[in-house]
Amino acid sequence: MKQDIETLYNTIIEGNIISLSKAITLIESNKADDKEKRELLIQKAKTYNSKSIRIGITGTPGVGKSTFIEAIGLKYINQGLKVAVLAIDPSSKITKGSILGDKTRMELLAKEKNAFIRPSPTGGELGGITARTRETVILCELAGYDIILIETVGVGQSETAVKSIVDLFILLLQPGGGDDLQGIKKGVVELADLIIINKSDGENEKLSNITKNDYNRAMKLIGNKNKILKCSALTGMGIDEIVLEIDNLFDELYKNNLIKSKRLQQEINWFNRELEKELINKVFTNKNILNLNNKLSDSIMKNELSIYDAIDIIIDKIKINK
Ligand code: GDP
Repeated sequence: MKQDIETLYNTIIEGNIISLSKAITLIESNKADDKEKRELLIQKAKTYNSKSIRIGITGTPGVGKSTFIEAIGLKYINQGLKVAVLAIDPSSKITKGSILGDKTRMELLAKEKNAFIRPSPTGGELGGITARTRETVILCELAGYDIILIETVGVGQSETAVKSIVDLFILLLQPGGGDDLQGIKKGVVELADLIIINKSDGENEKLSNITKNDYNRAMKLIGNKNKILKCSALTGMGIDEIVLEIDNLFDELYKNNLIKSKRLQQEINWFNRELEKELINKVFTNKNILNLNNKLSDSIMKNELSIYDAIDIIIDKIKINK
């Protein structure tokens, strides 16, 4: 098995797309048999020194995320860089539509040999981002992708999780609706490293300036000094300026090696997140604990036991107090 993973690893580094896809499928696999292989591959991939940049892009449906990603993706490709796009659609579990949708949505980018577009499964998690998404990023870096763009639908829960796997977080807005923050939670605005008002073209130009001023004011109020830029992903207006701004932000991050400490901190956050998930999973699937839980629930219902005493009994059972 070790040999298999070694071969997979080497062919990914050579830029073999089939190997990359195979590896991502392995990462996404829930099969217990694959666990060891998955971990071997990721541990090895993590040691690879990539100088990638990881950008998260969020915004409400229809704001122009795919059009925007295609526009900046093509700019990077023209600079001779390789671009990977991971699209996370928290609703894809229900609609099963994201695979086809993303392919047709980024038609020009999809045609480029240096672009790799892949929907990322949500794993049923509400926020859509899982440890698997993060591992997929690492695999894309191993395959030589310089720019990793992670798209997520701004529905409120996914932003914090996206923020925890990217270096730079971009919020896309459209002209108008500045007062109600376009259904975007205030917290998301605070998370953004860069706010972009897309669709700033045609009749929207004037409204776009108003929106920009509204947001500037709102940002000032919360003490956020991050930039707000305007663009039209459709006409290309403002895209060069955005790519330049992203470059500047990354220069800062790389200059002081901030990027390294940021990613290490993210790794620890993921460790705790995964640990929490695994502990819950273990407790709620363990037969003995489930039996005990049933008995205790019975006693709680009969008012013979308080829920706190019941919790203590379970904690005792898993010997976590020792
Ligand atoms: P997403 O759901 O956020 O990914 O949005 P899409 O990229 O699919 O865009 C939604 C619609 O907005 C499409 O009809 C796009 O052509 C249109 N659109 C995207 N960007 C722009 C823009 O900069 N200007 C204008 N006028 N329309 C845009």
